[in-house]
Amino acid sequence: MAKQRILVCPICGETQPEIKVCRVCSTLLDTNGLLLAEGAIGPWWVRKEELTFRPGITYDNLAELALSGKITLQTIVRGPTTRQLWKVARRVKGLSHLLGRCHNCGEHVSPDDRTCDGCNAQFLKFTDRNNMGIELGAPSKGETGGMSSFLSDAEILDTQSTPLTLPPKPEVQQSPESVETDEAEESVEESVGSPQFRSLQRRLEQGKRRVLALTISLIIALILIGILISTPLG
Ligand SMILES: [Zn+2]
Ligand SMILES: [Zn+2]
Repeated sequence: MAKQRILVCPICGETQPEIKVCRVCSTLLDTNGLLLAEGAIGPWWVRKEELTFRPGITYDNLAELALSGKITLQTIVRGPTTRQLWKVARRVKGLSHLLGRCHNCGEHVSPDDRTCDGCNAQFLKFTDRNNMGIELGAPSKGETGGMSSFLSDAEILDTQSTPLTLPPKPEVQQSPESVETDEAEESVEESVGSPQFRSLQRRLEQGKRRVLALTISLIIALILIGILISTPLG
């Protein structure tokens, strides 16, 4: 038995066995049917739960739905005149007059009217299939994190991180007897860094002193040995 092929409907995306007509969107799934369906794709959407995955439709298609009563004043739609935001049909420019109402003032109008007698609003057709009507705002400036190709050189150099700062120095003790001592000087010098760093620094200082003492002892010992060797034994 031949393996059954699985097909994804190009119009609604439904997965189904290879058949002639899509069981969800009723598109004829042969070459002509698909060309026809593709030609009906446009920037208008009618909100229908059962057809969530359908592409948008053309203005002509939308007008046909309105004039045939498949869209009412309460239908939720979106398109180029709503900036692709959902809106109730009676407020939608280009559609509402086909349903007998002015989108602007709500005045009763005829689908054939070109302007509203009440508010002079124009009733236009929006037939451009590729115009989504999306608001083209300027890109936001520096609101989001990270680098953007819109940044200027100066902005790239201006880093966001806070530069490292030294902790404030504790006030030098003012009593004259302590200022003169090594202790006071040391306390100012060692104020830089964490307690751990300071203790490490102290240990390093102690180590250095020990090495110096040992070196001096070694030199003295060598000198003594030299004297002992060079002294003729009586
Ligand atoms: Zn389909
Ligand atoms: Zn009006």
